[in-house]
Amino acid sequence: MIPDFENRLQKYAALITHVGLNVQPGQEVVLRTPIDTAPLARQVAIHAYQAGAKFVHALYSDEQMTLIRYQHAPRDTFDYFPQWYADALIGLAESGAAFLSVYATDPELLKDQDPELISLAQKVAAQKTQRFAELLGADQAPWTVVSGAVASWARRVFPDLAPDEQVDALWEAIFKACRVDAEDPVEAWRQHTENLAKRAHYMNQKQYVALKYTSEGTDLTVGLPQNHIWKGGFGQTPQGVRFTANIPTEEIFTLPHRERVDGVVRATMPLNLRGNLVENFWFRFEQGRVVEAHAEKGEAILKQLLETDENAVRLGEVALVPQSSPIAQMGILFYNTLYDENASCHLALGRAYRTSLVDGEAMTREAFMAAGGNDSLVHVDFMIGSDDMDIDGILPDGSTEPVFRRGEWAFEVAS
Ligand code: ZN
Ligand code: ZN
Repeated sequence: MIPDFENRLQKYAALITHVGLNVQPGQEVVLRTPIDTAPLARQVAIHAYQAGAKFVHALYSDEQMTLIRYQHAPRDTFDYFPQWYADALIGLAESGAAFLSVYATDPELLKDQDPELISLAQKVAAQKTQRFAELLGADQAPWTVVSGAVASWARRVFPDLAPDEQVDALWEAIFKACRVDAEDPVEAWRQHTENLAKRAHYMNQKQYVALKYTSEGTDLTVGLPQNHIWKGGFGQTPQGVRFTANIPTEEIFTLPHRERVDGVVRATMPLNLRGNLVENFWFRFEQGRVVEAHAEKGEAILKQLLETDENAVRLGEVALVPQSSPIAQMGILFYNTLYDENASCHLALGRAYRTSLVDGEAMTREAFMAAGGNDSLVHVDFMIGSDDMDIDGILPDGSTEPVFRRGEWAFEVAS
């Protein structure tokens, strides 16, 4: 057992409730979590009720149940998604409930299942819950994504440890990445998110027209639309409540121009995609579209992702993370996007966040896309950062300024 586990779990839950969700009196709280992390969910519920929550909904999931469906359900039923579940999420989001998602899965859960069925099931789920994703993407309700250690996932991250040590090692890594052992973790997080907000502010003042990435295997120009907004640290609901959508988070991010991405980019970490691993892959972009994609492993599932809809081949997020981030420094490959994306500069294929563009929430889909924002059923992050990565910001007059040098920030902000 990990030293002081109960106390640290409790601190982690406090962080999730007060910094992640920032639960307010009278609010409903929705916990979407694997049954394996129920002890964490219960601690969050305690903090939420103590903060005045009206009701805590615990929607437990079970990855073995997911696997059983792929193994035994009739093949022609994978276009079904329960309407009641979608309606519940949408209704609760519209009423301003707070949403916690505990993302902890075996990255290879579905590796032996039919990629077409996986793709179909994911697509139908995304279609049915699209309104929910839009509401959260526009910060209409507070939400946060965190992880918890589960055995199936811990086994992949620490294959060389004895089985009874794997889950403990993963909890240790999670606590470390989330600064749970700081004297006052909630205060430490407030400072950390302030610092990220300052980086974002600096970039917003600059309004670069494009970023140019250079590293081994990567030579890519990513155009940024007019009025793009860099965000980092925290979001804010229409009621003015600050929340932190990811714990941990080390990134600042905005949206790329959907038609102005050109060149080649190499992924620097494997991607856990729909229960499959995609490894050693790269893309070539022309005028914003992926025109060539190659992966040494998992190419079929990657190509299915690109074919989800017409805009899955375009980018919806560009994010900057220094190589000195605590997660990067641990040098652990987590096979979990929440952790791996905060260890590395990344891009995402698919949907852009409306809040990444001035007045983006108020725009029609057509207006948002005309302004350079992408819209798709998917949003999949992939990592491109490395110790040798340089990034230059290109100003409207064509001159350039360093943004990253050798994997680190190239500018200072007041602390
Ligand atoms: Zn990101
Ligand atoms: Zn993302």
